[in-house]
Amino acid sequence: MALSEFEQRALAALDENGLIETFRTLLRHRSITGHEAGAQRWLSEQMRALGLEVDLWEIDVEELRKHPAFPGMEVDRSGRAALGLVGSWQGGEGKRLVFNGHLDVVPEGDHANWSHDPWGAELEDGNIYGRGACDMKGGLIAALYAIKAIKDAGVPLAGSLLIQSVIGEEDGGLGTFATLLRGHRGDAAIICEPTGLDLVPANAGALTFTVRVPGKSAHACVRLEGVSAVEKYLDIHRALIELERERNSNVTHPLLGKLNLPYPLSIGRVQAGNWSSSVPEELIFEGRIGVAMGESAQQVREQFERTLHTLAEADPWLKDHPLEISWTGGQFESGEIPHDHPLVQLCGQCVQEISGRAPEVKGEPYGSDLRLLINIGNMPALLVGPGDVVCAHMPDERVPVSELIQAARIYILAALRYLQG
Ligand SMILES: [Zn+2]
Repeated sequence: MALSEFEQRALAALDENGLIETFRTLLRHRSITGHEAGAQRWLSEQMRALGLEVDLWEIDVEELRKHPAFPGMEVDRSGRAALGLVGSWQGGEGKRLVFNGHLDVVPEGDHANWSHDPWGAELEDGNIYGRGACDMKGGLIAALYAIKAIKDAGVPLAGSLLIQSVIGEEDGGLGTFATLLRGHRGDAAIICEPTGLDLVPANAGALTFTVRVPGKSAHACVRLEGVSAVEKYLDIHRALIELERERNSNVTHPLLGKLNLPYPLSIGRVQAGNWSSSVPEELIFEGRIGVAMGESAQQVREQFERTLHTLAEADPWLKDHPLEISWTGGQFESGEIPHDHPLVQLCGQCVQEISGRAPEVKGEPYGSDLRLLINIGNMPALLVGPGDVVCAHMPDERVPVSELIQAARIYILAALRYLQG
């Protein structure tokens, strides 16, 4: 498809240096989940400077928690401001396109594992390094500069563009949830998560659980007098591996079915005992279980609980000393639009024209804000953005500058074509 005059003008107006420098400044903000207020305030100033209409507000977390669809939260936010931020540019009366990106990041971990300063935004060999470089401050700023380019080019806008900068994505989706409830919605949304510029219209979900396994302590020298919570856990672990196998045995979804393990069940933490020569009287384990496409979070919780109850019923100790199961932390439902939806086709065309490569259309096993935009925002949405998700949450997280620029160019085309179509 040949570029229209407006498209050419907007692409030519992209301020590449401004994009890179603004992105690097944002990377230096340590906006770890729960500590995003400073970065949100700073970004709101950038949005104002670009002439966007800005809504920066304090999210009432306690009020939202009471909502039946609250997406969960792991960090303690007491005593710190939780801020929502949306920049918008209203042109004509036409359609509204949303760009969504989170600016919270996970902790950087041990600095010794990094060869670059995690908060230094260092540029080397065409990559910019830092926690949040790929997941996903790069995509967020690329979208902001796509809007700026269209503005700077003086191209008339048939509808409206919104950019949602959200917090609390990494531990459930508080920010996007709050943004949608505040009424910031559109007719379609592009989430700028790192996909290597492929298209992701389907995400599995993920639920976080904590289980307490009771035991009975005794001196290790008479261990038969006690009941080891560790030994009880070994049976439970085997049952959970079997549950995972069962849940992944016959996946027919056109995108998720291609993955080796679409819906992982993984135990992330196990803690037991308080003394080497005592039989452990308690074990606590935490983990996450995938939510299949088309399956509700409630169905998964029930199946998980049923599996543990069945096991406990057959165990003389656990029968009388019940397991305590709680659903803690992020509760990500799955979400999707059809893989041949017009939004997928439009974005695919834009990626092809800008990068010269036909993007893959993929389903991913991780949860994201996709399901909130689709299920609560009632708009079609997909993920497309710069960076390789494999380096997200890792030491030496990075994004290639070339992909950052390509992403901004893709967003420019997608915005103009979506609003004109
Ligand atoms: Zn992310």
